[in-house]
Amino acid sequence: MKRCAEATSGLLFREPLIFERSSPGREGYSVPTPTGRKRAAAIPGDYLRDSIPGMPEVAEPEVVRHFLRLSHWNFGVDVGMYPLGSCTMKYNPKVNEAVARLGGFTGIHPYMPVAWVQGALQLIYELERYLAEISGMRAVTLQPAAGAHGEFTGMAMIRKALTERGNPRTKVLIPDTAHGTNPASCRLNDYRIVQLRSTSEGVVDPEEVARRMDDETAAIMLTNPNTLGLFETHIEEIAEIVHEQGGFVFCDGANMNALLGRAKPGAMGIDVMQFNLHKTFSTPHGGGGPGSGPVGVAEVLEPYLPTPRIQATPDGFEFDSDRPLSIGRIKSFFGNFTIMVRAYAYIREMGPEGLRQASDMAVLNANYLRKRLGDSFNVAVDVPCMHEVVLDDRVLTKAGIKTMDLAKRLIDKGFHPPTVYFPLCVSGALMIEPTETESRETLDCFVDAMHEILDEARKPETVTSAPQVTGISRVDEVRAARQPVLKWSPRGAA
Ligand SMILES: *Cc1c(COP(=O)(O)O)cnc(C)c1O
Repeated sequence: MKRCAEATSGLLFREPLIFERSSPGREGYSVPTPTGRKRAAAIPGDYLRDSIPGMPEVAEPEVVRHFLRLSHWNFGVDVGMYPLGSCTMKYNPKVNEAVARLGGFTGIHPYMPVAWVQGALQLIYELERYLAEISGMRAVTLQPAAGAHGEFTGMAMIRKALTERGNPRTKVLIPDTAHGTNPASCRLNDYRIVQLRSTSEGVVDPEEVARRMDDETAAIMLTNPNTLGLFETHIEEIAEIVHEQGGFVFCDGANMNALLGRAKPGAMGIDVMQFNLHKTFSTPHGGGGPGSGPVGVAEVLEPYLPTPRIQATPDGFEFDSDRPLSIGRIKSFFGNFTIMVRAYAYIREMGPEGLRQASDMAVLNANYLRKRLGDSFNVAVDVPCMHEVVLDDRVLTKAGIKTMDLAKRLIDKGFHPPTVYFPLCVSGALMIEPTETESRETLDCFVDAMHEILDEARKPETVTSAPQVTGISRVDEVRAARQPVLKWSPRGAA
Protein backbone atom coordinates (compact mmCIF):
# COMPACT_ATOMS: atom_id res chain seq x y z
CA MET A 1 0.00 0.00 0.00
CA LYS A 2 1.16 3.47 -0.84
CA ARG A 3 1.50 5.86 2.07
CA CYS A 4 1.91 9.49 1.11
CA ALA A 5 3.29 11.98 3.61
CA GLU A 6 0.57 14.61 3.78
CA ALA A 7 1.54 18.23 4.28
CA THR A 8 -0.17 20.09 7.13
CA SER A 9 0.69 23.41 8.66
CA GLY A 10 3.26 22.77 11.35
CA LEU A 11 4.45 24.71 14.35
CA LEU A 12 6.14 27.71 12.74
CA PHE A 13 7.56 30.54 14.83
CA ARG A 14 7.42 34.22 14.02
CA GLU A 15 11.10 34.49 14.51
CA PRO A 16 12.62 37.90 15.17
CA LEU A 17 15.91 38.73 13.50
CA ILE A 18 18.92 37.45 15.43
CA PHE A 19 19.97 41.11 15.85
CA GLU A 20 16.71 41.84 17.66
CA ARG A 21 17.47 39.04 20.13
CA SER A 22 20.80 40.62 20.96
CA SER A 23 21.46 41.56 24.57
CA PRO A 24 24.75 43.33 25.50
CA GLY A 25 27.30 41.01 27.06
CA ARG A 26 25.54 37.76 26.24
CA GLU A 27 27.86 35.18 24.73
CA GLY A 28 27.47 32.00 22.75
CA TYR A 29 30.75 30.30 23.65
CA SER A 30 32.67 29.45 26.77
CA VAL A 31 36.34 29.09 25.85
CA PRO A 32 38.65 30.99 28.18
CA THR A 33 39.73 34.44 26.97
CA PRO A 34 43.49 34.49 26.44
CA THR A 35 45.17 37.12 28.59
CA GLY A 36 48.56 38.81 28.92
CA ARG A 37 51.45 37.28 26.98
CA LYS A 38 49.38 34.48 25.52
CA ARG A 39 46.96 36.97 23.98
CA ALA A 40 49.73 39.13 22.59
CA ALA A 41 51.55 36.09 21.18
CA ALA A 42 48.51 34.65 19.47
CA ILE A 43 47.39 37.75 17.58
CA PRO A 44 49.50 40.82 16.73
CA GLY A 45 48.31 43.91 18.63
CA ASP A 46 47.27 45.78 15.51
CA TYR A 47 44.60 43.21 14.84
CA LEU A 48 43.13 43.08 18.31
CA ARG A 49 39.90 44.82 19.20
CA ASP A 50 37.65 44.70 22.21
CA SER A 51 34.37 44.23 20.42
CA ILE A 52 33.15 43.43 16.95
CA PRO A 53 30.70 46.15 15.99
CA GLY A 54 27.32 45.11 14.69
CA MET A 55 27.42 41.48 15.79
CA PRO A 56 24.41 40.10 17.68
CA GLU A 57 25.15 39.07 21.26
CA VAL A 58 23.20 35.91 22.03
CA ALA A 59 23.57 32.71 24.05
CA GLU A 60 24.22 29.35 22.39
CA PRO A 61 20.71 27.90 22.87
CA GLU A 62 19.21 31.00 21.27
CA VAL A 63 21.49 30.63 18.25
CA VAL A 64 20.57 26.96 17.85
CA ARG A 65 16.84 27.60 18.22
CA HIS A 66 16.92 30.63 15.94
CA PHE A 67 18.40 28.76 13.02
CA LEU A 68 16.50 25.54 13.61
CA ARG A 69 13.20 27.45 13.68
CA LEU A 70 14.08 29.23 10.48
CA SER A 71 14.97 25.89 8.89
CA HIS A 72 11.40 24.72 9.59
CA TRP A 73 10.17 27.32 7.15
CA ASN A 74 12.18 25.68 4.46
CA PHE A 75 11.71 22.83 2.03
CA GLY A 76 14.63 20.65 1.00
CA VAL A 77 15.46 17.37 -0.68
CA ASP A 78 15.66 15.81 2.78
CA VAL A 79 12.05 16.86 3.43
CA GLY A 80 10.32 15.65 0.29
CA MET A 81 10.30 15.23 -3.47
CA TYR A 82 11.86 18.21 -5.24
CA PRO A 83 11.17 17.72 -8.97
CA LEU A 84 12.67 21.04 -10.06
CA GLY A 85 13.36 20.45 -13.74
CA SER A 86 16.94 20.90 -14.98
CA CYS A 87 18.23 21.17 -11.40
CA THR A 88 18.64 17.45 -10.61
CA MET A 89 17.58 17.75 -6.99
CA LYS A 90 18.44 14.17 -6.08
CA TYR A 91 18.97 12.89 -2.57
CA ASN A 92 22.63 13.26 -1.58
CA PRO A 93 24.08 10.36 0.43
CA LYS A 94 25.18 11.57 3.87
CA VAL A 95 28.35 9.53 3.73
CA ASN A 96 29.66 12.06 1.18
CA GLU A 97 29.30 14.76 3.84
CA ALA A 98 31.27 12.69 6.32
CA VAL A 99 34.06 12.21 3.77
CA ALA A 100 34.14 15.91 2.84
CA ARG A 101 34.53 16.78 6.54
CA LEU A 102 37.61 14.63 7.13
CA GLY A 103 40.28 16.73 8.81
CA GLY A 104 42.81 15.89 6.10
CA PHE A 105 40.62 17.74 3.61
CA THR A 106 39.24 20.59 5.70
CA GLY A 107 42.55 21.37 7.42
CA ILE A 108 44.61 22.09 4.31
CA HIS A 109 45.38 25.42 2.68
CA PRO A 110 46.17 26.17 -0.96
CA TYR A 111 49.44 27.83 0.04
CA MET A 112 50.79 24.69 1.68
CA PRO A 113 53.81 23.14 -0.03
CA VAL A 114 52.90 20.60 -2.70
CA ALA A 115 54.55 17.83 -0.71
CA TRP A 116 52.06 18.33 2.13
CA VAL A 117 48.91 18.06 0.00
CA GLN A 118 49.68 15.07 -2.21
CA GLY A 119 46.44 13.36 -1.21
CA ALA A 120 44.30 16.31 -2.27
CA LEU A 121 46.16 16.61 -5.56
CA GLN A 122 45.72 12.90 -6.17
CA LEU A 123 41.98 13.27 -5.59
CA ILE A 124 41.76 16.13 -8.09
CA TYR A 125 43.87 14.22 -10.60
CA GLU A 126 41.82 11.04 -10.28
CA LEU A 127 38.48 12.84 -10.37
CA GLU A 128 39.56 14.49 -13.63
CA ARG A 129 40.36 11.03 -15.03
CA TYR A 130 37.00 9.60 -13.87
CA LEU A 131 35.05 12.43 -15.51
CA ALA A 132 37.09 12.02 -18.70
CA GLU A 133 36.23 8.32 -18.73
CA ILE A 134 32.52 8.93 -18.02
CA SER A 135 32.21 11.56 -20.77
CA GLY A 136 34.69 10.23 -23.32
CA MET A 137 36.48 13.58 -23.30
CA ARG A 138 40.26 13.74 -23.52
CA ALA A 139 41.01 15.93 -20.48
CA VAL A 140 39.09 17.74 -17.75
CA THR A 141 39.66 20.82 -15.59
CA LEU A 142 37.98 21.10 -12.20
CA GLN A 143 38.56 24.84 -11.75
CA PRO A 144 35.19 26.37 -12.71
CA ALA A 145 32.93 27.07 -9.74
CA ALA A 146 29.53 26.34 -11.33
CA GLY A 147 27.87 25.12 -14.49
CA ALA A 148 27.57 28.59 -15.99
CA HIS A 149 31.21 29.26 -15.08
CA GLY A 150 32.13 26.05 -16.92
CA GLU A 151 30.22 27.26 -19.98
CA PHE A 152 32.10 30.55 -19.80
CA THR A 153 35.42 28.68 -19.56
CA GLY A 154 34.57 26.46 -22.53
CA MET A 155 33.59 29.41 -24.70
CA ALA A 156 36.77 31.24 -23.68
CA MET A 157 38.82 28.26 -24.87
CA ILE A 158 36.96 28.23 -28.18
CA ARG A 159 37.63 31.93 -28.59
CA LYS A 160 41.32 31.49 -27.87
CA ALA A 161 41.64 28.53 -30.26
CA LEU A 162 39.94 30.44 -33.08
CA THR A 163 42.02 33.55 -32.37
CA GLU A 164 45.12 31.35 -32.65
CA ARG A 165 43.89 30.29 -36.10
CA GLY A 166 43.53 33.92 -37.11
CA ASN A 167 39.87 34.87 -36.53
CA PRO A 168 37.85 34.52 -33.30
CA ARG A 169 34.63 34.86 -35.37
CA THR A 170 31.52 36.69 -34.19
CA LYS A 171 28.50 34.40 -33.66
CA VAL A 172 27.32 31.30 -31.82
CA LEU A 173 24.29 29.16 -32.73
CA ILE A 174 22.01 28.38 -29.79
CA PRO A 175 18.78 26.34 -30.08
CA ASP A 176 15.59 27.52 -28.33
CA THR A 177 15.80 24.42 -26.11
CA ALA A 178 19.14 25.46 -24.59
CA HIS A 179 19.51 26.43 -20.96
CA GLY A 180 19.21 30.16 -20.20
CA THR A 181 22.81 30.45 -19.07
CA ASN A 182 24.12 29.50 -22.54
CA PRO A 183 23.46 32.85 -24.27
CA ALA A 184 24.95 34.68 -21.28
CA SER A 185 28.16 32.62 -21.46
CA CYS A 186 28.48 33.56 -25.14
CA ARG A 187 27.82 37.26 -24.57
CA LEU A 188 30.48 37.36 -21.84
CA ASN A 189 32.92 36.03 -24.46
CA ASP A 190 31.82 38.73 -26.87
CA TYR A 191 29.78 36.52 -29.20
CA ARG A 192 26.48 37.39 -30.82
CA ILE A 193 23.72 34.78 -30.50
CA VAL A 194 21.85 33.26 -33.42
CA GLN A 195 18.80 31.39 -32.17
CA LEU A 196 17.82 28.10 -33.81
CA ARG A 197 14.20 26.93 -33.72
CA SER A 198 13.86 23.28 -32.88
CA THR A 199 11.54 20.98 -34.83
CA SER A 200 8.06 19.88 -33.77
CA GLU A 201 9.85 16.77 -32.41
CA GLY A 202 11.66 19.08 -30.01
CA VAL A 203 15.18 18.58 -31.34
CA VAL A 204 17.63 20.56 -33.47
CA ASP A 205 17.29 20.09 -37.22
CA PRO A 206 20.64 19.53 -39.01
CA GLU A 207 19.32 21.32 -42.11
CA GLU A 208 18.60 24.41 -40.03
CA VAL A 209 22.17 24.23 -38.67
CA ALA A 210 23.56 23.90 -42.21
CA ARG A 211 21.56 26.97 -43.32
CA ARG A 212 22.82 29.12 -40.44
CA MET A 213 26.41 27.87 -40.17
CA ASP A 214 29.06 30.04 -41.86
CA ASP A 215 32.69 31.09 -41.48
CA GLU A 216 31.78 33.81 -38.95
CA THR A 217 30.13 31.25 -36.65
CA ALA A 218 32.45 30.18 -33.85
CA ALA A 219 30.38 27.36 -32.40
CA ILE A 220 27.07 25.73 -31.73
CA MET A 221 26.15 25.47 -28.07
CA LEU A 222 23.54 22.89 -27.34
CA THR A 223 22.15 21.30 -24.24
CA ASN A 224 21.95 17.52 -24.48
CA PRO A 225 19.60 16.14 -23.32
CA ASN A 226 17.88 19.44 -24.07
CA THR A 227 15.52 21.36 -21.81
CA LEU A 228 12.55 19.43 -23.20
CA GLY A 229 14.21 16.36 -21.70
CA LEU A 230 14.93 14.99 -25.17
CA PHE A 231 18.12 13.51 -26.57
CA GLU A 232 19.45 15.45 -29.57
CA THR A 233 19.17 12.58 -32.03
CA HIS A 234 21.03 14.35 -34.85
CA ILE A 235 23.99 15.37 -32.73
CA GLU A 236 26.65 13.60 -34.81
CA GLU A 237 25.40 15.04 -38.09
CA ILE A 238 25.21 18.51 -36.53
CA ALA A 239 28.78 18.20 -35.22
CA GLU A 240 29.97 17.25 -38.69
CA ILE A 241 28.30 20.29 -40.30
CA VAL A 242 29.80 22.67 -37.73
CA HIS A 243 33.28 21.10 -37.94
CA GLU A 244 33.31 21.25 -41.73
CA GLN A 245 33.11 25.02 -41.51
CA GLY A 246 35.78 25.26 -38.85
CA GLY A 247 33.43 25.75 -35.88
CA PHE A 248 33.35 24.05 -32.48
CA VAL A 249 30.61 22.07 -30.74
CA PHE A 250 29.90 22.97 -27.12
CA CYS A 251 27.63 20.61 -25.19
CA ASP A 252 25.99 21.83 -22.02
CA GLY A 253 26.42 18.68 -19.96
CA ALA A 254 24.48 19.74 -16.86
CA ASN A 255 21.97 17.02 -17.75
CA MET A 256 24.52 14.18 -17.69
CA ASN A 257 22.24 12.53 -15.13
CA ALA A 258 20.46 10.93 -18.08
CA LEU A 259 23.57 9.61 -19.83
CA LEU A 260 25.91 8.04 -17.26
CA GLY A 261 27.23 4.72 -18.51
CA ARG A 262 24.98 4.87 -21.57
CA ALA A 263 26.35 7.56 -23.87
CA LYS A 264 29.61 9.52 -24.07
CA PRO A 265 29.51 13.05 -25.47
CA GLY A 266 33.16 12.58 -26.49
CA ALA A 267 32.01 9.95 -28.99
CA MET A 268 29.38 12.25 -30.54
CA GLY A 269 31.74 14.86 -31.94
CA ILE A 270 31.57 17.20 -28.93
CA ASP A 271 34.66 19.41 -28.53
CA VAL A 272 33.94 20.79 -25.10
CA MET A 273 31.36 20.28 -22.38
CA GLN A 274 30.79 21.18 -18.76
CA PHE A 275 29.59 18.95 -15.94
CA ASN A 276 27.61 20.04 -12.93
CA LEU A 277 29.11 18.12 -10.01
CA HIS A 278 26.49 19.64 -7.71
CA LYS A 279 23.74 18.07 -9.82
CA THR A 280 24.79 14.78 -11.41
CA PHE A 281 27.47 13.93 -8.88
CA SER A 282 25.40 14.51 -5.83
CA THR A 283 26.29 17.60 -3.84
CA PRO A 284 23.56 19.52 -2.00
CA HIS A 285 22.84 22.70 -3.94
CA GLY A 286 20.39 25.52 -4.34
CA GLY A 287 20.08 28.97 -2.85
CA GLY A 288 23.34 30.00 -4.50
CA GLY A 289 25.49 27.60 -2.52
CA PRO A 290 28.89 26.52 -3.82
CA GLY A 291 28.99 24.42 -6.97
CA SER A 292 31.52 22.93 -9.30
CA GLY A 293 31.39 23.00 -13.09
CA PRO A 294 34.31 20.99 -14.50
CA VAL A 295 35.00 21.27 -18.22
CA GLY A 296 35.98 18.39 -20.48
CA VAL A 297 37.70 18.94 -23.82
CA ALA A 298 38.59 16.96 -26.93
CA GLU A 299 42.24 16.80 -27.95
CA VAL A 300 41.98 19.90 -30.17
CA LEU A 301 41.18 22.15 -27.18
CA GLU A 302 43.46 20.52 -24.60
CA PRO A 303 46.28 23.12 -24.93
CA TYR A 304 43.83 25.87 -23.92
CA LEU A 305 42.74 24.40 -20.56
CA PRO A 306 43.11 26.70 -17.54
CA THR A 307 46.36 26.52 -15.60
CA PRO A 308 47.75 25.15 -13.42
CA ARG A 309 47.24 21.52 -14.50
CA ILE A 310 48.09 18.71 -12.14
CA GLN A 311 50.60 16.17 -13.41
CA ALA A 312 51.44 12.74 -12.10
CA THR A 313 55.23 12.26 -12.01
CA PRO A 314 57.37 9.48 -10.53
CA ASP A 315 58.03 11.87 -7.62
CA GLY A 316 54.38 12.57 -6.92
CA PHE A 317 51.81 15.08 -8.10
CA GLU A 318 52.99 18.46 -9.35
CA PHE A 319 51.57 21.64 -10.81
CA ASP A 320 52.23 22.43 -14.45
CA SER A 321 51.84 26.12 -15.27
CA ASP A 322 54.05 26.11 -18.32
CA ARG A 323 51.32 25.94 -20.94
CA PRO A 324 51.70 28.83 -23.38
CA LEU A 325 48.28 28.48 -25.05
CA SER A 326 46.28 28.20 -21.81
CA ILE A 327 43.49 30.71 -21.17
CA GLY A 328 45.10 31.05 -17.73
CA ARG A 329 43.51 30.80 -14.35
CA ILE A 330 39.73 31.23 -14.12
CA LYS A 331 39.31 30.71 -10.37
CA SER A 332 41.41 31.43 -7.33
CA PHE A 333 43.35 28.35 -6.28
CA PHE A 334 41.84 25.09 -7.60
CA GLY A 335 38.07 25.49 -7.47
CA ASN A 336 35.57 24.44 -4.81
CA PHE A 337 37.54 21.57 -3.41
CA THR A 338 35.14 19.88 -0.97
CA ILE A 339 32.55 19.55 -3.74
CA MET A 340 35.16 17.57 -5.63
CA VAL A 341 35.59 15.37 -2.56
CA ARG A 342 31.85 14.65 -2.49
CA ALA A 343 31.79 13.86 -6.22
CA TYR A 344 34.83 11.61 -5.87
CA ALA A 345 33.21 9.76 -2.97
CA TYR A 346 29.95 9.43 -4.92
CA ILE A 347 31.65 8.01 -8.03
CA ARG A 348 33.68 5.54 -5.93
CA GLU A 349 30.58 4.44 -4.01
CA MET A 350 28.53 3.93 -7.15
CA GLY A 351 31.11 2.42 -9.48
CA PRO A 352 30.45 2.15 -13.23
CA GLU A 353 27.49 -0.20 -12.74
CA GLY A 354 25.89 2.00 -10.08
CA LEU A 355 26.25 5.15 -12.16
CA ARG A 356 24.60 3.48 -15.14
CA GLN A 357 21.78 2.27 -12.91
CA ALA A 358 21.29 5.79 -11.57
CA SER A 359 20.79 7.14 -15.10
CA ASP A 360 18.55 4.22 -16.04
CA MET A 361 16.35 4.91 -13.02
CA ALA A 362 16.31 8.68 -13.64
CA VAL A 363 15.07 8.06 -17.18
CA LEU A 364 12.60 5.38 -16.10
CA ASN A 365 11.14 7.65 -13.40
CA ALA A 366 10.66 10.53 -15.84
CA ASN A 367 8.96 8.26 -18.36
CA TYR A 368 6.77 6.77 -15.64
CA LEU A 369 5.55 10.29 -14.83
CA ARG A 370 5.15 11.08 -18.55
CA LYS A 371 2.88 8.06 -18.96
CA ARG A 372 0.90 8.49 -15.76
CA LEU A 373 0.43 12.26 -16.09
CA GLY A 374 -0.03 12.09 -19.85
CA ASP A 375 -3.59 10.77 -19.57
CA SER A 376 -4.91 13.94 -17.96
CA PHE A 377 -2.27 16.59 -18.73
CA ASN A 378 -0.69 17.55 -22.04
CA VAL A 379 2.93 16.47 -22.52
CA ALA A 380 4.69 19.13 -24.64
CA VAL A 381 6.41 16.61 -26.94
CA ASP A 382 5.01 13.20 -26.10
CA VAL A 383 7.82 10.86 -27.09
CA PRO A 384 10.07 8.79 -24.79
CA CYS A 385 12.03 11.32 -22.76
CA MET A 386 15.31 11.25 -20.90
CA HIS A 387 15.60 12.48 -17.30
CA GLU A 388 12.74 15.00 -17.31
CA VAL A 389 9.32 15.56 -18.81
CA VAL A 390 7.74 18.87 -19.80
CA LEU A 391 3.98 19.53 -19.68
CA ASP A 392 2.31 22.53 -21.27
CA ASP A 393 -0.67 24.46 -19.85
CA ARG A 394 -3.36 23.42 -22.37
CA VAL A 395 -5.34 21.35 -19.84
CA LEU A 396 -4.81 23.90 -17.07
CA THR A 397 -6.10 26.78 -19.15
CA LYS A 398 -9.26 24.79 -19.91
CA ALA A 399 -9.67 24.13 -16.20
CA GLY A 400 -9.34 27.85 -15.47
CA ILE A 401 -6.03 27.80 -13.60
CA LYS A 402 -2.47 28.78 -14.45
CA THR A 403 0.80 26.87 -14.28
CA MET A 404 1.79 29.04 -11.31
CA ASP A 405 -1.43 28.13 -9.45
CA LEU A 406 -0.75 24.44 -9.84
CA ALA A 407 2.87 24.90 -8.79
CA LYS A 408 1.85 26.75 -5.62
CA ARG A 409 -0.86 24.22 -4.77
CA LEU A 410 1.72 21.41 -4.96
CA ILE A 411 3.40 23.00 -1.94
CA ASP A 412 0.20 22.42 0.06
CA LYS A 413 0.41 18.77 -0.98
CA GLY A 414 3.98 18.45 0.32
CA PHE A 415 5.94 18.74 -2.93
CA HIS A 416 8.41 21.31 -4.11
CA PRO A 417 7.06 22.76 -7.37
CA PRO A 418 8.65 21.75 -10.65
CA THR A 419 10.39 24.38 -12.79
CA VAL A 420 7.72 26.65 -14.29
CA TYR A 421 7.49 28.71 -17.49
CA PHE A 422 10.70 27.19 -18.86
CA PRO A 423 11.66 26.27 -21.56
CA LEU A 424 10.20 29.35 -23.21
CA CYS A 425 9.24 27.45 -26.36
CA VAL A 426 6.45 25.67 -24.41
CA SER A 427 3.33 27.57 -23.34
CA GLY A 428 3.09 27.71 -19.52
CA ALA A 429 5.72 24.97 -19.21
CA LEU A 430 5.93 22.70 -16.20
CA MET A 431 9.29 20.94 -16.26
CA ILE A 432 9.40 17.88 -14.02
CA GLU A 433 12.63 16.07 -13.12
CA PRO A 434 11.95 13.34 -10.57
CA THR A 435 15.56 12.00 -10.42
CA GLU A 436 16.49 8.41 -9.68
CA THR A 437 16.25 8.71 -5.92
CA GLU A 438 12.43 8.85 -5.73
CA SER A 439 10.60 5.59 -5.13
CA ARG A 440 7.62 4.46 -7.16
CA GLU A 441 5.40 5.15 -4.13
CA THR A 442 6.57 8.77 -3.99
CA LEU A 443 6.03 9.18 -7.73
CA ASP A 444 2.49 7.81 -7.33
CA CYS A 445 1.82 10.28 -4.51
CA PHE A 446 3.02 13.08 -6.78
CA VAL A 447 0.74 11.92 -9.60
CA ASP A 448 -2.21 11.75 -7.15
CA ALA A 449 -1.46 15.29 -5.99
CA MET A 450 -1.41 16.55 -9.58
CA HIS A 451 -4.77 14.88 -10.29
CA GLU A 452 -6.29 16.21 -7.07
CA ILE A 453 -5.33 19.73 -8.06
CA LEU A 454 -6.98 19.33 -11.44
CA ASP A 455 -10.14 18.21 -9.61
CA GLU A 456 -9.92 21.12 -7.18
CA ALA A 457 -9.79 23.53 -10.11
CA ARG A 458 -13.56 23.15 -10.29
CA LYS A 459 -13.53 25.50 -7.29
CA PRO A 460 -10.63 27.61 -8.53
CA GLU A 461 -10.14 29.67 -5.30
CA THR A 462 -8.71 26.60 -3.54
CA VAL A 463 -5.98 26.51 -6.12
CA THR A 464 -5.51 30.19 -6.89
CA SER A 465 -5.10 31.06 -3.18
CA ALA A 466 -2.44 28.37 -2.60
CA PRO A 467 -0.22 27.79 -0.75
CA GLN A 468 -2.21 27.68 2.48
CA VAL A 469 -0.08 25.57 4.81
CA THR A 470 3.06 27.68 4.60
CA GLY A 471 3.99 30.56 6.89
CA ILE A 472 3.67 33.02 4.03
CA SER A 473 1.32 32.56 1.08
CA ARG A 474 1.94 34.14 -2.31
CA VAL A 475 4.32 37.01 -2.65
CA ASP A 476 4.82 39.42 -5.48
CA GLU A 477 7.81 37.58 -6.92
CA VAL A 478 9.30 40.51 -8.77
CA ARG A 479 9.04 42.81 -5.77
CA ALA A 480 10.32 40.09 -3.44
CA ALA A 481 13.48 39.85 -5.54
CA ARG A 482 13.96 43.61 -5.85
CA GLN A 483 12.94 44.72 -2.36
CA PRO A 484 13.40 41.71 -0.13
CA VAL A 485 11.62 41.95 3.24
CA LEU A 486 13.43 39.46 5.42
CA LYS A 487 11.25 39.78 8.51
CA TRP A 488 8.15 37.75 9.24
CA SER A 489 5.04 39.74 8.50
CA PRO A 490 1.53 38.51 9.27
CA ARG A 491 -0.22 36.56 6.53
CA GLY A 492 -1.57 38.63 3.71
CA ALA A 493 0.47 41.68 4.58
CA ALA A 494 3.19 40.90 2.01
C1 LIG B 1 21.82 24.09 -13.97
C2 LIG B 1 22.15 24.22 -15.39
C3 LIG B 1 23.10 25.16 -15.81
C4 LIG B 1 23.76 26.17 -14.89
O1 LIG B 1 24.49 25.60 -13.86
P1 LIG B 1 24.86 26.47 -12.56
O2 LIG B 1 25.72 25.56 -11.76
O3 LIG B 1 23.58 26.82 -11.90
O4 LIG B 1 25.59 27.68 -13.04
C5 LIG B 1 23.41 25.20 -17.15
N1 LIG B 1 22.80 24.39 -18.03
C6 LIG B 1 21.88 23.47 -17.66
C7 LIG B 1 21.23 22.58 -18.70
C8 LIG B 1 21.51 23.36 -16.33
O5 LIG B 1 20.58 22.48 -15.97
